Amino acid sequence: MYNSTKAIHTPFQRRDVYDALQMPVYHTMAYEFDNADVMADAFCGRSDAPDYSRVLNPTVTHFEQRIVNLTGAKEVSAYSSGMAAISAIILSTASAGKNIISSRHLFGNTFLLLTQTLSRFNVEARLTDLTNPENVKKLVDKNTCCIFLESVSNPQTEVADVRQLAKIAHDNGIPLIADTTMIPFTQFDASKVGIDFQVVSTTKYVSGGATSLGGVIIDYGNFPDISKRIKKDSVFNFGAYMTPHVAYMQTIGLETLQVRYDRQASSALYIARLLEKTPGVKKVGYPGLESHPHYQLFKDIYGDKAGAMLTFDLADEAKCFKFINALKMIHRATNLFDNRSLAIHPASTIFGPLSPEQRKTMDIEDTTIRLSIGLEDPEDIYADLAQAIDSAINN
Ligand SMILES: *Cc1c(COP(=O)(O)O)cnc(C)c1O
Repeated sequence: MYNSTKAIHTPFQRRDVYDALQMPVYHTMAYEFDNADVMADAFCGRSDAPDYSRVLNPTVTHFEQRIVNLTGAKEVSAYSSGMAAISAIILSTASAGKNIISSRHLFGNTFLLLTQTLSRFNVEARLTDLTNPENVKKLVDKNTCCIFLESVSNPQTEVADVRQLAKIAHDNGIPLIADTTMIPFTQFDASKVGIDFQVVSTTKYVSGGATSLGGVIIDYGNFPDISKRIKKDSVFNFGAYMTPHVAYMQTIGLETLQVRYDRQASSALYIARLLEKTPGVKKVGYPGLESHPHYQLFKDIYGDKAGAMLTFDLADEAKCFKFINALKMIHRATNLFDNRSLAIHPASTIFGPLSPEQRKTMDIEDTTIRLSIGLEDPEDIYADLAQAIDSAINN
């Protein structure tokens, strides 16, 4: 079966008592048992019967099962946000005295988690240029517990060769963890390119147009000790399991993921090509453009469709602010892969609280605008961009 079919046809774990077609929202915290024996079995993990909704809920399990079906993973665990999923995989992998190799080009809160939060627990972040595997080889030592990368960094749109990084990780007996939020898991075979644990903010593409916050760890089963900790430590003890109503919305989101992604990615390419020719635009960052430095690498790993996030640069920050203020249809908002198009000036917003030095090390430029292309007609989106750019450079 193809992914677009699987996304819709994944059987329920048990036949629904009313034969509901859509997985119902089991908005219940506890579950009753027929007798003490089955109760003991459920609590001790000898059966898959749910006991308490912080650790197991049928609606959440069904959402997880659909992603298992789509990815061929061994296990999927759903969390209340992308950051909860990232924290859970890192805390299931690292311990005091260990180090993590990653990049300076990271999602803002992931950067702070690795460099600030974890340093209080004596876990060191070794940040380097992951596009150069020699750097990584030099940094790995006996205390390295994982390599962590993002499939396409935001907003730099950098693409590192995950296959080379996986080889280095596996030669050293450690996992490669990839935050692949930018490219849906339906678009490429993560285990084939060597990813051991995929983490995804399902808030973005999966939720179905910014309906809810969520995150998943997609575990390919290559590191059983870490897998055990994901469920036992993170889901049970941290308490950041996805809630049933969110799982319901995100399951519906999964059903339309493929059609939304195809539309948004083709509109993004159309707009990126036009922006390259638009007066006043200094450069465009989109891995689907032939001019992007990682165009071929992106295509080899993630396929033909390069997602719905792109960036472009104007001459200076003042022009970026004028552009943002001149938008008429596109919304001034953060977030990615909403159904509506969004624009933001990352340096003054998402990365605004960081120091200028921190922004510099992360290559966050004052001149960059980030766009998330929605489901509107691409000609309408470009028309709004063109008038706002024109207004910014001529006023
Ligand atoms: C949004 C995002 C996150 C964080 O996800 P939340 O669901 O907001 O917690 C992490 N990584 C990437 C690449 C993201 O885009």
